[in-house]
Amino acid sequence: MTAPDHILLLAGTFEARQLAERLSSTFPGLHLTVSFAGVVRDLPDLGVPTRIGGFGGTAGLAKFLEDESVTLVIDATHPFAAQMSRNAFEACSNCRLPLLRLERTAWKPLEEDRWEPVVSIEDAVSALPSASRAFLAVGRKEISRFYPRSDIFGVARMIEPPRQPLPPQWELVLARPSSSAEEEMSLLRKRGITHLVAKNSGGERSYAKIEAARRLGLPVIMIDRPKLPRTKTSTTVADTVEKIRIVLASNRS
Ligand code: NAP
Repeated sequence: MTAPDHILLLAGTFEARQLAERLSSTFPGLHLTVSFAGVVRDLPDLGVPTRIGGFGGTAGLAKFLEDESVTLVIDATHPFAAQMSRNAFEACSNCRLPLLRLERTAWKPLEEDRWEPVVSIEDAVSALPSASRAFLAVGRKEISRFYPRSDIFGVARMIEPPRQPLPPQWELVLARPSSSAEEEMSLLRKRGITHLVAKNSGGERSYAKIEAARRLGLPVIMIDRPKLPRTKTSTTVADTVEKIRIVLASNRS
């Protein structure tokens, strides 16, 4: 009898959690391991084997794939988790394993939007005018890049606190993004925000702030996604499940 397929699902997004649940119900008997970086403390119980923490770069990941006889890797990490995606690409190439990416579609500006697209965090830092009051929705990892801007007021929202505390006078909002544009408008209004800085994460769960900025007529400094190696990519959980079905069938033939 041949061993069951073993899928490694690189998680860190809402879609990854949905996919884990769909895979367990669609392919009973499948060996699935879900991997989290371990950045967020309140990890959900997905009812499937889970591992937490880095692999130790490309070499560490390749060793894991071989030791655990992984047959397929799904990269469902966040579009800005570029290092993990690059490592997954290289390790799968080296181990000659199939790799599928699940990546939500990027947001596109509407006519009323006042976006200023930038290609990097550095460019976002420089794009803020002096004396601006910026709502910084960039996550805990990159927030410290804005700290040298002592000429602005920053409100930073993130789920876990940053490693280095915010500059004095700045405000930390420890929360997930709201799904209500009204709530986001109220937050921006109360702080007298003049600019929103956001990553183009895509998806619905953090879009309310973009809609809020539009309705308030605020400029948005929108950070483009990092360039990733080209690999087979789906934008929805349903399509990923179908692509996985094809890979599993071809592994059996
Ligand atoms: P990153 O810069 O691409 O990755 C840094 C390192 O973290 C990787 O090299 C890897 O360590 C480890 N890592 C990342 N994702 C992992 C996973 N799913 N399982 C095991 N190890 C993982 O990633 P990041 O931007 O720090 O993001 C960390 C996690 O938060 C990701 O899972 C991502 O999906 C999620 N997230 C990121 C953002 C964002 O804006 N960057 C937003 C929301 C959620 P080793 O090299 O040691 O293997």
